Order: sequence, then C-alpha cells, then structure tokens
Amino acid sequence: MFDLKDRVALVTGGNGGIGLGFARGLARAGAAVMLAGRDAGKNAAAVAELRALGARAEAVQADITDQDAIRAMVEATVADFGRLDILVNNAGTNIRRPPDQVSLQDWHTVLDTNVTSAMFAAQAAYPHLKAHGVGRVINNGSMLSIFGMPLHAAYAASKGAVVQLTKALATAWTREGVTVNCVLPGWIDTDLTRATRRDIPGLEESVVKRTPAGRWGHAADFEGIAAFLASDAAAFISGAAIPVDGGYAIQG
Ligand code: NDP
Repeated sequence: MFDLKDRVALVTGGNGGIGLGFARGLARAGAAVMLAGRDAGKNAAAVAELRALGARAEAVQADITDQDAIRAMVEATVADFGRLDILVNNAGTNIRRPPDQVSLQDWHTVLDTNVTSAMFAAQAAYPHLKAHGVGRVINNGSMLSIFGMPLHAAYAASKGAVVQLTKALATAWTREGVTVNCVLPGWIDTDLTRATRRDIPGLEESVVKRTPAGRWGHAADFEGIAAFLASDAAAFISGAAIPVDGGYAIQG
C-alpha cells in the first residue's frame, strides 16, 4: 500500500531544505527521484545523498521561473526514468518587505517561483501523470496560506493561491487518477527561515512556545507526508491542504 518502487518522482527545490526531506521520503519508499534546482553543486550533493539510501536519483539544473526549463525538467525525468508519476512542486522563495515597498519585480519573483511554476509544471507533467492512473501532484503551501504577516504580502498571496490551485487541479484531474494535494509547513529550520529567525527578536522562542509539538520543524518531518500522499494508500485524498506544523495552526 505504501510501496513506491515502480514510481518516478520529480521534486522541484529537492536539493535542500524541505524539498530534500520530501525527496528522501519518496526515495525511502522506493521511488526513483529527479531533483530540480538552480545550483549544480547542491543538486550533485543531494543526488549523492539519495543514492546512498539505495535510490535511483538524478538531478536537472532548472530555474522554474523559466517556462522552457519547466518543460525541460519534465522531459529529462521521462527520458532518464521512462515515466513520471509524482510531481512535488516544492521550490519557493520569499522577499520580505513592507507592502508599500514591494516592487513589481519582487512580486513577480515571488509569484513566479511559488505558484506560476506549480501551475505550469503540473500542466507539463499532466500527460505523464495520468498515463498509469496513479498520478500525484503534491504542492507546497505555508502557514501563510492561512495567516497574514506584515512583511509577506507577495509570499502570502502566492501561498494562498497555491491552495486554490490545488483545489482547481484536483477537481479537474482526480477522476483520471491524478490526485492533487497541498502541504502547509509550519516554522521549519531551513535556509529560507534563517534570516527571519535572526531578524525577529524572540521568534525562536515564540515558535517553540506556540507550537504544541514544542519545537521547530525539520526537513525530516516531510519524509512521511510525501511517501503517504504519493502512495496508493492516499488514492482517495485529493484537494486537501494538510498542515505539517506540529499543531501551530490550531493553537489559539
Ligand atoms: P530553502 O531555501 O532551503 O529551499 C528552497 C529550494 O527551492 C532550494 O532547493 C532552491 O534550490 C529551490 N529554488 C528556489 N528558487 C528556485 C528557482 N527559481 N528554480 C528552481 N529551484 C528554486 O527553503 P525551504 O526548504 O524552507 O522551502 C521549500 C518550500 O517550503 C518553499 O516553497 C517554501 O515557501 C515552503 N515553506 C517553508 C517554510 C519554512 O519554515 N522553511 C514554511 C512554509 C513553507 P536552488 O537554490 O538550487 O535553485
């Protein structure tokens, strides 16, 4: 029920942070994994880590704000592994600025990376995802799919959109055997949150205090949800937005 050994996954931003957590979970469950990221050095190190787990793994250098690169990463996956069953739209970025200082370029960088890429990667992958009737799209949202924060207008807009994109794709494709779900990470210790942790006094402790699990999250916390949502066990789950946050979102 949880075995992914004949399945092939493509994980954007899979070379570090939460994406590498997703990739590890899929690899441990038996999937072959293609990683996509801009940094060739990080890609190579992550591939080596997955191969050390016994997985078939490759990487493609891709900037997912580039439509040609999106198509190329999907084609590279199918060329290397013969099929594509699981697309993880994980790569993301944030530019923290007060709303009155957000430039159009900031806005496009964040929206293009976080949500436009997910739409068009899903579109490029769709013929492959439905080919074997076991297709999976796993999008990465955020607590800011639910909440607001003052310096995160573009980021929150993008992550709210990721949830609605998830629902729209799920209504279109689930009947064809392609489920579409979204994960909402809480506060996770990665490169992305490092500057925020440094700059906001007391954040470190306040996250621990508010989170029922009593800690920040780690990349390893995303291994299980990726393997589960990708598996046959999750065939009847589609259009869901699932917090992976140690209970942060339900704390009053
Ligand atoms: P990291 O900064 O550690 O990882 C970001 C990943 O995205 C890297 O692998 C990076 O690879 C890749 N990436 C960024 N921009 C591009 C691009 N244009 N093209 C291709 N790849 C790109 O951050 P996290 O692991 O924390 O974030 C991963 C996801 O989780 C994001 O969507 C983020 O919004 C979300 N998230 C994170 C939270 C947290 O607390 N950390 C909370 C909620 C959501 P490379 O640099 O090689 O391109």
